[in-house]
Amino acid sequence: MSQLADATTTALWLDRLDIDRRDPLPGDETADVAIVGGGFSGLWTAYYLRRIAPELRVVVLEKDFCGFGASGRNGGWAVGELAGSFEQYAKRSSKAEALRQARLVFDAVDEIGRVIAAEGIDADYAKGGTIYVARNAPQEQRMRDEIAHVRAQGFTDDEIRLVDADEARTLLNATNVRAGIHLAACAAIDPAKLVRGLADAVERAGATIYEQTAVSSIDDGVVRTEHGVVTAPVVVRATEAYSRDLQGERRTMLPVYSRMIATEPLPPDVIAEIGLADRPTFGDTRHMVIYGQRTADDRIAFGAAGLPYQYASRITRAGELHEASHQHVHDVLVDLLPVLADARITHRWGGVLGIPRNWTPGLDFDPDTGRGWLGGYVGEGVAPSNLAGRTMADLITRQHNERTAAPWVGARARAWEPEPLRWLGVRASRAILRRADDHEFRTDREASLSFRLSRLLRGAWS
Ligand SMILES: Cc1cc2nc3c(=O)[nH]c(=O)nc-3n(C[C@H](O)[C@H](O)[C@H](O)COP(=O)(O)OP(=O)(O)OC[C@H]3O[C@@H](n4cnc5c(N)ncnc54)[C@H](O)[C@@H]3O)c2cc1C
Repeated sequence: MSQLADATTTALWLDRLDIDRRDPLPGDETADVAIVGGGFSGLWTAYYLRRIAPELRVVVLEKDFCGFGASGRNGGWAVGELAGSFEQYAKRSSKAEALRQARLVFDAVDEIGRVIAAEGIDADYAKGGTIYVARNAPQEQRMRDEIAHVRAQGFTDDEIRLVDADEARTLLNATNVRAGIHLAACAAIDPAKLVRGLADAVERAGATIYEQTAVSSIDDGVVRTEHGVVTAPVVVRATEAYSRDLQGERRTMLPVYSRMIATEPLPPDVIAEIGLADRPTFGDTRHMVIYGQRTADDRIAFGAAGLPYQYASRITRAGELHEASHQHVHDVLVDLLPVLADARITHRWGGVLGIPRNWTPGLDFDPDTGRGWLGGYVGEGVAPSNLAGRTMADLITRQHNERTAAPWVGARARAWEPEPLRWLGVRASRAILRRADDHEFRTDREASLSFRLSRLLRGAWS
């Protein structure tokens, strides 16, 4: 932990804000719509609801503070990507619909930019796209296959393109770069500034937010909290990885840890050496996702998967701060960008993201029961949660448009397996993927069997 020994264990983004928690629910209350969860999903739903129907009494109930969950601690990629495969979505609808949905997610990146401009939210938004580099032969081959694949699906060169080694290195001067993919629909943001600014905008729009208010159960029209009951004909669950704490939702979402570190602000010569001139977010194409951004104050904030999951879906601070996993994140960063070997690491933190059993995000609203939910973004929820929240507001107010017709609307996943199967499946799958990455870096040969085996173990076939 040498480089990490003095790092603060609060997320960089939250550490820089003065968070004054809003008051809890004062007692029993009625509303037209109650939203459980004050992350991006819940807040975007509230924001668009009040804009479409300002007469609705909208209440957001948040157990800690808005942005306490993944929304305040993530990598700050507002990226136009949606977990789940294009083919899965196309199977539910058509290829044209799947393409249209993908473009709605691209547009969500711009929509976030539009809202922060309109609402005067300073979220350090910079739309520089994202650069994925290939750093061994199998990664390069997967990249070339991916480009052929997206062209066949109908995506244009302006949306996603292959870049050669020189251009890729200009964008991100990482080690062993052989090629890259540039995806235009991505903005680097400060997620905590965005989520806190959004909460303020939600209040300005006329919704009420109660923080420090944990919900224990949602029954049709009745939301029970530690401070009282909210009765509302419409209730939306936006609790993502923390859904496990709600009665009856223990196996709905798998809470999986991801951990990040941030360097000190870097001097101009180091930044010049790294690249990232327009602040594109960056990663490579290994199986175990890595993600980084150059922040507005010239730090590198970087994350990677480590120890993924705790038995029985436990979410603990010790899990978030797992030291060996943070050391791994640092090792990966230095391997990618050796110029950072001596950079001081000022922050290390972790959080949990939510994975549904079919590894596919979605949303649903049942007008008969008034119940809705949205989420399950796996690791890509910043931009999709904007689209999901906007669509949820459309559904509640009975709008019919291209958003409500998108194939991810109405998604259903079955519950995760009981323990110890969940634990065994996730752990084994992650171990195999990690070994597959090591194998590919060591031998330059693809570990495709491992990848298929891991998909099978983690349940991604359904
Ligand atoms: C370390 C990390 C890095 C990530 N990086 C990226 C990235 O760069 N780009 C990207 O697109 N995605 C990223 N993700 C995923 C992304 O952050 C999430 O998909 C997104 O923030 C989900 O938003 P949400 O509102 O659905 O969930 P959350 O932000 O988790 O919000 C859920 C909220 O509900 C509240 N809550 C839960 N249960 C209750 C209850 N019973 N009562 C009251 N309130 C409750 C929680 O306190 C929380 O505030 C990352 C995730 C992590 C953990």
